[in-house]
Amino acid sequence: MKGAILGDLDKCIKCGICTATCPVAAHKPGFSGPKHLGAELTRFSLDPQNPLEPEADYCCNCGSCQEACPSGVNISLLNVYYKSKLKEQQRWTNIRDSLLGRPAALAKIGSFNVGLTNFILRQQATKGLLEQSLALAQDRSFPQYAEESFTKWFARRRINASSKKVVYFLGCFTNYNRPITGKSVVNILEKHGFQVLVPKQGCCGLPLMANGYFTKGRQQGEANVKAIKPLLEQGFPIVSSCPSCTLMLKREYAEIFEIAGAEQLGLQVYDASEFLVKLKVEGQLDMDMKPLPYKLAYHAPCHLKLQGIGLPSYELLKLIPELEVFEIDRGCCGLSGSYGYKREKYEMSMAIGKKAFDRIREINSKYIATDCGGCGLQLHHGTNRQVVHPAELLWSSYEGLCSSMDNI
Ligand code: SF4
Ligand code: SF4
Ligand code: SF4
Repeated sequence: MKGAILGDLDKCIKCGICTATCPVAAHKPGFSGPKHLGAELTRFSLDPQNPLEPEADYCCNCGSCQEACPSGVNISLLNVYYKSKLKEQQRWTNIRDSLLGRPAALAKIGSFNVGLTNFILRQQATKGLLEQSLALAQDRSFPQYAEESFTKWFARRRINASSKKVVYFLGCFTNYNRPITGKSVVNILEKHGFQVLVPKQGCCGLPLMANGYFTKGRQQGEANVKAIKPLLEQGFPIVSSCPSCTLMLKREYAEIFEIAGAEQLGLQVYDASEFLVKLKVEGQLDMDMKPLPYKLAYHAPCHLKLQGIGLPSYELLKLIPELEVFEIDRGCCGLSGSYGYKREKYEMSMAIGKKAFDRIREINSKYIATDCGGCGLQLHHGTNRQVVHPAELLWSSYEGLCSSMDNI
């Protein structure tokens, strides 16, 4: 990783544009922003004699700085490097961050008895206990687990064999918390004649990386690349409906983790809506959509924008008859995965999201759509409106399920 870092440090022209776009720098006094943190502090940290600055832990990994940088500096790489050095320096294991970095493991434990887990997580006493013991924000609600995970649902279905195959990387949130997103993606792909393959897969590794556990996150990435490789070699496209997972597979496995074979993976990975827009361009998208007579506010997640593919979900949603779609366009929602669940970051997370919450109230739509489960939790928390994934809306439109929007 050091070679790549040195190259990126030298690309920085010290313009400060990254800091001007950083949502944390705008809200946290004392957080000097990515120009100082990414380029300058990282260079400083290369000498082990120099002390590290703990403020770097406030970077939420949104990537807005990287998107704005005119010199193409991989600021995410610099931030990840610095945060992992901070974690290495800590004397004691941070139990909270270590747990938050492993959503799949937590979900497996929570899924032993879904009803009981969900009941416990809803209780104010539980939240109070978790705030006291693990410094989790008491005002947050934890995402509820689904009765049946996506993978269990998928395993009991009949196989829709086809010569056109596509691999689905679902992500932990879809698997354990919101399987309806995955079901909608599978249904849409099958409607277009694809056989969907779901290889054994783990978390993409982003939560570990974002919490400073670089090596463990990389191991997670290596395991996923190994599992997908045989399908990759057959030339099948890989589709993911979670923008953070997609970004990891498309770019970060190669650029940050430097995993062998990840460059090829990156070339074959598509965001689910990007894949459907591609079908539209090729004249293969089924345009027989039924009306959804609603107003909808659409939020584009930071990790989707970082992919440089425009706003494919927004394009698709605008195809649905009678659906009035308004882009929220107010930057980062402020949650950034587990970041906004931490007690010391909660207020800032809500302050960052305020512009988006206000814009949603101004649009005054009953529903919000976003591609990221985490953004969905934050936008619901900030506005108390129902949040759906664009794939769920598209499937509802194909099936003419406009009356059941409240049940999605
Ligand atoms: S990743 Fe986001 S929070 Fe971190 S320095 Fe860049 S803009 Fe700021
Ligand atoms: S935007 Fe890029 S070039 Fe400008 S200060 Fe930030 S990292 Fe350096
Ligand atoms: S980034 Fe994707 S795979 Fe990783 S925790 Fe989030 S939803 Fe799950």
